[in-house]
Amino acid sequence: MNFISNFISYVGMMNLTKYIIITGGVVSSIGKGITSASIGRILRSYGLKVGAIKIDPYLNWDSGTLNPYQHGEVFVTYDGMETDLDLGHYERFLDVELPGIANITTGKVYDSVINKERNGDFLGACVQIIPHITDEIKEMIRKTSNSDDFDIVLVELGGTVGDIESQPFLEALRQLRNEEGHDNVMFVHVTFVPYLKAAGEFKTKPTQHSTKELRSTGISPDMIVCRSQEPIDEPLKRKIAHFCDVPYDAVINTPDASTIYEVPLVMDKENVGQYIVDRLKLDELEGLDVNPDSSKLDSWREVVKSLKKQDPEISIGIVGKYIELEDSYMSIREALQHAAANIGVKLNVKFVNSDVNNLKDGTLSDLDGILIPGGFGERGVEGKLDAVEYAIANNIPIFGICLGMHSMVIQFARRIGLEGANSSEFDENNPYPVIDMMEEQKKIKQMGGTMRLGSYDCKLQKDTKAYDAYKQDIIKERHRHRFEFNNEFKEELTNNGLILSGSSPDDFLIEIVELPDHPWFLGCQFHPEFKSRPNNAHPLFVSFVDAAYEYSKNHSEAK
Ligand code: GLN
Repeated sequence: MNFISNFISYVGMMNLTKYIIITGGVVSSIGKGITSASIGRILRSYGLKVGAIKIDPYLNWDSGTLNPYQHGEVFVTYDGMETDLDLGHYERFLDVELPGIANITTGKVYDSVINKERNGDFLGACVQIIPHITDEIKEMIRKTSNSDDFDIVLVELGGTVGDIESQPFLEALRQLRNEEGHDNVMFVHVTFVPYLKAAGEFKTKPTQHSTKELRSTGISPDMIVCRSQEPIDEPLKRKIAHFCDVPYDAVINTPDASTIYEVPLVMDKENVGQYIVDRLKLDELEGLDVNPDSSKLDSWREVVKSLKKQDPEISIGIVGKYIELEDSYMSIREALQHAAANIGVKLNVKFVNSDVNNLKDGTLSDLDGILIPGGFGERGVEGKLDAVEYAIANNIPIFGICLGMHSMVIQFARRIGLEGANSSEFDENNPYPVIDMMEEQKKIKQMGGTMRLGSYDCKLQKDTKAYDAYKQDIIKERHRHRFEFNNEFKEELTNNGLILSGSSPDDFLIEIVELPDHPWFLGCQFHPEFKSRPNNAHPLFVSFVDAAYEYSKNHSEAK
């Protein structure tokens, strides 16, 4: 009896998860991810525990095989899922680590339903989009909510309303609102309000149309976030409120900001937090600070201030082959900026194409630091090797990540006389495969999800740059690769001066390499960029940017 009443009072105390669903209209790429993450940051400042889900309606199972030129970087979660880059925004803004199930795709939904059908789980029923697919979508959303004790889960639906692929998701989200109740689910519609130069005015019609399109699915938005290039005025907001049938307070304008981290502050000024607190009756939740007090975001405001610092200025080049779409290096670019803010410098990130001949000639000379990011395939690798050579010869700080570390090891090997040394990824028959595939990987032929993925422990060696940065014996970092440092060359490379400062706890896999007689030469097998936060910059990035700053001080006259 006691147990039952304890259990009932425990359940009574537990907060139910509430959902904020974010849809998009008019055009894509208007920053739904940043809008969602910013709402999350505001709610976090109320003391709420906020999680986030990204729905990608494409048929791919995950983001692993997507072309970085089209979709930007693949973000890797701690549990090894290859996901959409919006999860990176959520992790950085919310300062959480999300599980891979927080990225739902049509591929995953259908895969699961078809598996259930093959197992006979539907007991002879005809399997249909409604209810089987929509039930699966709701189950996946609830699974993420239950993975932690979230008060609020943001659910961002990729694409724009009206896309054929989105329809089952919109239907599932409509059902979710009915099942969870009006007070527990709200819809935010993000649109674009264009300015027509010739007419000299902003136009609300696209917003009206996309809201109408959303309504045709049975969903009425509770809030409309209007993206625009410049601020829109009050009469225009009133017009949108009127035609889209939302209260005036629920029309939020987010004009282009100088840094994405400013968006929560812009939205806070528009009282987004208070509106959501009232709409979802969050003041009824236990132990929340729901006072409309603007000091809540003060620490975030400080971070934004440091990110906007204008001097001293330094330049770091990202030498890679996916530079046409800068989003391909999203987390690296952000991690560099977090580190610059931490140190107090303005950082210009320059994208340098590695797929050219003679990178050594001039292109790198006005940089204070070189970062070689991850990548796949042979194209552009020789340019990366040139950049390593240039950094060694000119004592410029250089940071290699994954394929960047491979490039460092290859070039170092060539310098010490292992002529033609390479990674087996680029030349299977090279004479000195200093980077090679792990035995168990060799058997795998399929492309998707077959790498060493997710978070692994790494043991650091004392008195190294890595240890000085982390100040810890064991760290955890995320991985995404097939090829490894080849232990057969361990002795030869270390005898010639390469330091192996990080390894798997059993010493088998090499995780970090360094050169001691260089200002800053460090390559890591993992991707530290995924764990950097604006308010908690990553130690390796801080150490690297600091070295670049030192370099700039000594070389400012020479440039
Ligand atoms: N292509 C390399 C590998 O598979 C490096 C991967 C990466 O840079 N993420 O090991």
